Amino acid sequence: MNAASPRCPCPEGTDTEIAIVGAGLSGTLAAHVLGRAGYQVTLIDRHPVFPREFRVEKIAGDQIGKLRRIGLMDKLVAAAMPFGEIVNARKGRILDRTRAQHYGILYGDLVQAMRADLPETVRFVAGRVSKVEAGPDHQRVSLLGQGEVTARLLVLATGMGDVLRRDLDIERRYIHQRQSLTFGFNIRPADADAFKYPALTYYGERLSDGIDYLNLFPAGGTTRANLFVFRDHRDPWVKALRENPKETLVETLPGLTRVFGDFEVFDKVDSWLTDIMVADRCRRDGVVLIGDAYQTSCPAAGTGVSRLLTDVERLCMAYVPQWMATPGMAAVKIAAFYDDPEKRAMDMHGLQLADFRRNLTIDTGLRWQARRQFHFGRRRIMNGINSLGPSFATKLRSLPKPRIKPAA
Ligand SMILES: Cc1cc2nc3c(=O)[nH]c(=O)nc-3n(C[C@H](O)[C@H](O)[C@H](O)COP(=O)(O)OP(=O)(O)OC[C@H]3O[C@@H](n4cnc5c(N)ncnc54)[C@H](O)[C@@H]3O)c2cc1C
Repeated sequence: MNAASPRCPCPEGTDTEIAIVGAGLSGTLAAHVLGRAGYQVTLIDRHPVFPREFRVEKIAGDQIGKLRRIGLMDKLVAAAMPFGEIVNARKGRILDRTRAQHYGILYGDLVQAMRADLPETVRFVAGRVSKVEAGPDHQRVSLLGQGEVTARLLVLATGMGDVLRRDLDIERRYIHQRQSLTFGFNIRPADADAFKYPALTYYGERLSDGIDYLNLFPAGGTTRANLFVFRDHRDPWVKALRENPKETLVETLPGLTRVFGDFEVFDKVDSWLTDIMVADRCRRDGVVLIGDAYQTSCPAAGTGVSRLLTDVERLCMAYVPQWMATPGMAAVKIAAFYDDPEKRAMDMHGLQLADFRRNLTIDTGLRWQARRQFHFGRRRIMNGINSLGPSFATKLRSLPKPRIKPAA
């Protein structure tokens, strides 16, 4: 795709081909991909510089491949702290190690890095959008005290806020209210120059604590802690964690300092209560929702960025070129994006993983107790086998599997 891509001209009096409201991660990435493809894009956000807000702080796994595919991996590499190994531990003992590329970065820095060097075809406007109107040909975006922008297509990438959605009569459905709690804070070694490992994932020790895991990793020039919890937000433990993070953590995860080293918490404790929700009745003329504006994700599942990257890739590379090549922007065109099999599978995976993490952490039923034991037991056994050397582990894997005869 380039500036010569086939497209219908904008209706008379339209300022831009595509207006994107929201320049968080999803809106900014979409602006890059569409701008590079030659579309005239207006990207609008109330923050000229993205503020310090607590969201994703570690990029890894499929997110790396997806960023590479949309051509923005270099920006992450230039701004983030890379690390290649995470030690996984529980109850004061090492379970295993994850060897894969990870990048630690604070969300504000990530969005700012992506906002830098937007293509020339993208105009960034700093302002609060107070009203949006959408129709089959013209979309109208009103900016507080700054007039309005009109476009052929409106992309809403406004995150979890719902003010603008309401203008368009788009509802949101709760899948799980107050599904999880996430905390973020900075730590440093208390009695050493460095921690034992650059990165650690430490799993909850007791079912009653409701702790899924604690991630410790380099980001923002320090060691960042992300703690994923399934607990009532009014629980006194939550207040204790905010007020005395070190003491509360050491009491709840007594084996932590043995594995990682003693630590102190400095700076404030960020916290976030997540509602899992999805936009309903969003098949409308002229407007499409992406990222958290369409569906939110459980932070413990770590699927928010994979989901928004799927949205950006599918929308900008598969659908917008088709939509712009024919007149109008009717709801039937827009519906094709929401029905995209890859997007649907990714959104479903996000919901399933959210349930899985919650059940694995706090479900007291026999099925989940067995699953939990199997989950951690298998990892310990595999780690033991791997520590006997690669040739032993390979030989073991190549042994014939026992054949189970079906009962007569
Ligand atoms: C605590 C926490 C931890 C997380 N951890 C992970 C993780 O480990 N892994 C993972 O994959 N995902 C994680 N996520 C999810 C991930 O961070 C989000 O899915 C992602 O940041 C959503 O990006 P977005 O661009 O859709 O929304 P946002 O980043 O929220 O962007 C929305 C933008 O819209 C702008 N905006 C809204 N309304 C207006 C208006 N009226 N006018 C102008 N501008 C407006 C806002 O200023 C903002 O810039 C986490 C989320 C949270 C909350």
